[in-house]
Amino acid sequence: MKPVIVVHGGAGEISDSRVQPKLDGMRKAVREGYRILQQNQILDADFPSVAAEAVTAAVRVLEDLEAFNAGYGSVLTEDGEVEMDAGIMEGKNLAYGAVGGIVKVKNAIDVAAKVMNKSEHCFFAGAGANRFAESQHVPEVSGESLKSPFAIRALERFRNSENITNEIDDADEAPIVGKKEGSRGTVGAVALDAHGHLAAATSTGGLTGKLVGRIGDTPVIGAGVYADNDSAAISTTGLGESFLRALVARRISEHVEKGEKSNVAIKRALDFMEQRVGGDGGAVLVTQSGDIGIEWNSTRMGWAYACNGRLHSGCNRHEDFDESI
Ligand code: ASP
Repeated sequence: MKPVIVVHGGAGEISDSRVQPKLDGMRKAVREGYRILQQNQILDADFPSVAAEAVTAAVRVLEDLEAFNAGYGSVLTEDGEVEMDAGIMEGKNLAYGAVGGIVKVKNAIDVAAKVMNKSEHCFFAGAGANRFAESQHVPEVSGESLKSPFAIRALERFRNSENITNEIDDADEAPIVGKKEGSRGTVGAVALDAHGHLAAATSTGGLTGKLVGRIGDTPVIGAGVYADNDSAAISTTGLGESFLRALVARRISEHVEKGEKSNVAIKRALDFMEQRVGGDGGAVLVTQSGDIGIEWNSTRMGWAYACNGRLHSGCNRHEDFDESI
């Protein structure tokens, strides 16, 4: 089985100035995940598969970069704080772990992975998520250390939004609540390891100006993340309330199970969402046979993948930067 990893860096109106940092970040994340897949050894014995470890490592890289709306660089709530959501699932045992509304941790995906690997429960939210993180010796960081200048500016624009038009400012990357369009920077990764195991991970700061306590689709099984060795590993990004209501990740996996090609499976689920509840976004997937799916119905979506020693990436439709890894 040849290993494959695919990542995304969010879908929406990605401004031109943000394209290159996103491409650089996604390539870095893919290289990190692919390195682990090629080593083909579980480094942290708590992980159920190499694929699960690889997606966690790739998402951690993306969380650490300002170019993305996750970890450092997460967008801010109406109160000006960072509240993060993250989820991970692996396809061998259908193990799943998630956190919602977690604060003051550098990498929410690490906490989600610990929920999957170390807890009998699947999902912790708010203060309970932080208490769980503490019990696992995840270091607490200051809330301020997670706030990027970009996220602070985005919240200022959100607060003044009655004074601006609905146009997307070129400096705007963060999604504005209530706008159908708007750009986002949620991150995700899906992987197939050499043993044929699948895993998916997704992490986000949510939406600029979101109400305190709002949790989106990202950490929710079947909406923002899903993996089953019998179908596919899927990570989605887009307007969370739509992805939740249309259960997009699980819907995509059902299309794969029925034999649809990967991109068609994603497109069908996005079409369903658009028709029934509105909203835009995209998804990446990999199947157990190594088929890759990358599709979106927003203006742009950042993506990158590695397989067969090549690294591909892009942000625009029909774009494919191809390099050796
Ligand atoms: N799905 C995320 C949320 O609604 C946002 C995104 O993917 O851009 O929280």
